[in-house]
Amino acid sequence: MKSSQEIIEKTKRYGAHNYHPRDVVFSSANGVIVTDPEGREYIDMLSAYSSVSLGHQHPEIVAAAKAQLDRVTHSSRAFYNDMLADFFEMLCNLTNMEKILPMNTGAEAVETALKTARRWGVDKKGVPDGQQEIIVCERNFHGRTIAVISFSSDAKARRGFGPFTPGFKAIKFGDAKALEEAITPHTVAFLMEPIQGEAGVIIPPDGYLKEVRDICTKNNILMIADEIQTGFARTGKMFACWHEDIQPDIFILAKALGGGIMPVSAIATTDEIMSVFEPGSHGSTFGGNPFACAIAIKTMEIMVRDRIAEQSAEKGKYFLEKLQQGIHNDDIKEIRGRGLFVGIEFKVNATPYVAALNLAGVLTKETHEYTMRFAPPLVITYEQLDLAIERIVGVLNEKHEGAVL
Ligand SMILES: *Cc1c(COP(=O)(O)O)cnc(C)c1O
Repeated sequence: MKSSQEIIEKTKRYGAHNYHPRDVVFSSANGVIVTDPEGREYIDMLSAYSSVSLGHQHPEIVAAAKAQLDRVTHSSRAFYNDMLADFFEMLCNLTNMEKILPMNTGAEAVETALKTARRWGVDKKGVPDGQQEIIVCERNFHGRTIAVISFSSDAKARRGFGPFTPGFKAIKFGDAKALEEAITPHTVAFLMEPIQGEAGVIIPPDGYLKEVRDICTKNNILMIADEIQTGFARTGKMFACWHEDIQPDIFILAKALGGGIMPVSAIATTDEIMSVFEPGSHGSTFGGNPFACAIAIKTMEIMVRDRIAEQSAEKGKYFLEKLQQGIHNDDIKEIRGRGLFVGIEFKVNATPYVAALNLAGVLTKETHEYTMRFAPPLVITYEQLDLAIERIVGVLNEKHEGAVL
């Protein structure tokens, strides 16, 4: 087997440098533990940005995938397949919605939600086509397509990629009044993350989601919740919007829905809103394929059966308290979280701390330089969590600066 060093060098030699990965090579994984080619073990405290929420190689999801591999994997939507209906029903039940439109990646599902909102604006609200406006939040992250980066506030994600898609307006996240003021007769939707993930696990003030819901209803605009990262129990409720008992008009879902095996995404919404689509208006060759559906169905089954949301809430509370009590370092500004979604914000560049943690056998990554994010598999045991806490507290109670590996 090749060494980590050889693999890293070859990856850099032949691959685009559009990422700056940490120097850790995944060779095999099981549950919360990742092993590199040299046999070193790591505790995965990122789980592929919350895509592997039930742990690596979950035996039941792997078994469902293998069984489906032997039966049928792809149909396209030119025909029906015998897994898609159950996928639709389960996801409707889980989200408390009436209709699903399946895609593959997160960004595609975001695009789908944007198209839904624009068409709804024309068909149901009477906004002239081409004049629909969608309000978004500053420091959002919704993916990498041209339409999506058109309303990003991250200069790195935008430079050299113009011309951009018009029709978007950004306001401050967490500020309900700013939303009210930004609405015009042509506004069709407000797109937001209930907790901003990439921005650094930014939790809005209590009551914000409820206020947003009210403002959207009052002004006849769609509330679109991008729960790609926060959804499926990451924050201690099945969906982060449910912390304030509110239902958006559209959920955007991906990441954990694919059980860590396949990219599976979707929007979930009402009959009335989804009725804007007719045959030919939108689609995806792989969206809703039976292989992806089999995996997603098993993933959702396990999440409900094993009360994963409660597990996330309980373990998350424990984890956050231990970090807040144990870590004393004046390089740190704040330790915050909800469920097993935790951010440590630094006053200095967090990268040297991340590198030191990786060396100590804990996988995490900084986001926007200053925040270290933890999103471990929700099935992590208390024993594994204690070991991770011991290492994190140990590393973070010392100063790490300078040389960035
Ligand atoms: C990851 C993510 C996306 C993009 O998903 P991709 O599958 O990478 O396209 C969009 N929105 C949020 C909130 C995300 O966390």
